[in-house]
Amino acid sequence: MSGNFNPAAQSTSLTLIGAATASTSPPRRRGFLPSNFRFGDSFRFRDVEAVNSSSPKAPASAGATVNGVATRRGGMAGMGGTFRTRFKSCLQYLLLLTFVLTPPPALAKTVLEGDFTQGGLVIGSTDPNNRVFLDDKWIRLGPKGQFLFGFTRDAGAEAVLEVRSPDGAVERLVLQIAPREYNIQRIDGLPRKMVTPPTALLTRIRRENAAIRVARMHDTPIPYFESGFIWPAEGRISGVYGSQRILNGKPRRPHYGIDVAGPVGTPVIAPADGVVRLAERDLYYSGGTVILDHGHGLSSAFLHMHEVHVRVGDILRQGDPIGSIGATGRVTGPHLDWRINWFDQRLDAGLLVPPRN
Ligand SMILES: [Zn+2]
Repeated sequence: MSGNFNPAAQSTSLTLIGAATASTSPPRRRGFLPSNFRFGDSFRFRDVEAVNSSSPKAPASAGATVNGVATRRGGMAGMGGTFRTRFKSCLQYLLLLTFVLTPPPALAKTVLEGDFTQGGLVIGSTDPNNRVFLDDKWIRLGPKGQFLFGFTRDAGAEAVLEVRSPDGAVERLVLQIAPREYNIQRIDGLPRKMVTPPTALLTRIRRENAAIRVARMHDTPIPYFESGFIWPAEGRISGVYGSQRILNGKPRRPHYGIDVAGPVGTPVIAPADGVVRLAERDLYYSGGTVILDHGHGLSSAFLHMHEVHVRVGDILRQGDPIGSIGATGRVTGPHLDWRINWFDQRLDAGLLVPPRN
């Protein structure tokens, strides 16, 4: 491991300033939440010492504790070495919080895991009595201190996470967000064609977009996301997050979903637990569309579906049927477009599930 946190981090009695860096390698395509993930699992590591040779060795015995951080050998059985790599950023925080800064006990419990990249989702845990802010925005804590946040496609290089404990201590972490390279296609020399939809259609599109926005803004206090994520459909990946076309020099809207191509009628299932916030059969652009709220502002959208089997308010468990793959809305062929949002921030659903193709 290259010394990724700043050992000369400044600190005062109340404020701890640290810097932690995510891996600069391309985003990993492995799911960080296995399908059997439960939140408590996130604290368990097989080999804490594998991360930093200068750190104290993690005891191998079950239930041992290092500076308040529980370790359990084999707790992530089956995840293997790549899992450790994936959790590197998280482990850096552990080291930062437990070995470098020696923070007050309440703050030592803060753990982050996930993808510190554009499009990445980060799930954290802290003392439930703390309060957490990302770039000064309050973030909901679950009953066990769970929280989450994400970085959109074009997120800047840094974000500041602040953890405030009830006794007034404030911990500031500068998160480094790794940039990504997106698939950009430039097509020039196209015949100019200005298509302005008629007013009636524009009204419809605006109304539908507003409904989608509202469906994604729920800050539901139930951490459904703790179920972890699985693929919502079988099929070949035919489109990825972040890709964009530039037609005659004019950038089009980036593609925010991951496209799974499959025959019309292929089942679409809930990738994680959640409550249905939108279920429409015929939206202009996205056709059969469902938005599933995974709690704390995290939501999935499923577009272009042939059938929609759910209704607004339905509570789904991971694997429950949602509908089927279709070619509804403005599409060229049957596929599921699966999107993940943290409120209005577009995240990369492909980072939440094991790689495919
Ligand atoms: Zn798509």
